[in-house]
Amino acid sequence: MTYHASYSALALPPRHRFPIAKYHLLHQRLQQADFQQHCEFLIPTPAPISWLTSIHDSHYVHALLDGTLEEKAMRRIGFPWSDALIERTNYSIGATVLAARTALQTGFAAQISGGYHHAHHNFGSGFCLFNDLVIAADQLIRQGNVRRVLIFDCDVHQGDGTATLTQHRDDIISVSLHCDKNFPARKANSHHDVTFERATNDQDYIKLIQQMLPLLVNTYQPDIVFYDAGVDVHQGDELGLIQLTDAGLLAREQTVLSIVKKADIPIICVAGGGYCRDTLHLVDRHLQLYVAAKELFS
Ligand SMILES: [Zn+2]
Repeated sequence: MTYHASYSALALPPRHRFPIAKYHLLHQRLQQADFQQHCEFLIPTPAPISWLTSIHDSHYVHALLDGTLEEKAMRRIGFPWSDALIERTNYSIGATVLAARTALQTGFAAQISGGYHHAHHNFGSGFCLFNDLVIAADQLIRQGNVRRVLIFDCDVHQGDGTATLTQHRDDIISVSLHCDKNFPARKANSHHDVTFERATNDQDYIKLIQQMLPLLVNTYQPDIVFYDAGVDVHQGDELGLIQLTDAGLLAREQTVLSIVKKADIPIICVAGGGYCRDTLHLVDRHLQLYVAAKELFS
């Protein structure tokens, strides 16, 4: 598990949509007795600039880091600029890379934040500054740790940034399962896109994963799977339009983890999205990944 205190250390305007406290609360929950003995917490170091510029436009990277990005571009990201924002972003990317390296050794690792899939080459959007998934996949490949990565993105929103950043690559395969009526309005082309209709239920959603994921693993033979376990597919989510129940969410985590484990491929999981003013309910939804992982990997 990778976690850093900066994840939740960001002051946001009142009534801001982003549930900044959830990372801290999830970390606390994982330190309680029923999880603690199964969890090893690793502390990341911030991503160096070279990791960012290997995927993102250099002007964009420097303007964002320096706080000189124009106001309109910051509005598209959805956060006011601050040192704390940059710090949490750089630690989050470092943490996704660390978790990915850990997964290669242990078979499973999770990053308590991450999944910034709306970050594109030269702009950010939807609360995403830099794309930790693509940066981490790229780092593993550059360092010769793996040859091919499969990004399996189950956040309710399309991983449009991941799609545009990987569209000309065959060593990072992007797969997005999302609701067609959710953000972004204009979808990009992942290697594989699955669009669900508004109000898709547990049964149809899980069945699709059961059919699709073994085929993807078999076809691409990835050396590692990056799983974006966004919980905004839950029926109680304030942004997502898919209607998974608590049981459906746990079944999704069990299904994804068990298929990848059965194929003997390491898996690294990131939190992805999840939006609910009732933060305890939200944390419980993110916890289902760890419930499933505890059953399968300890
Ligand atoms: Zn989302």
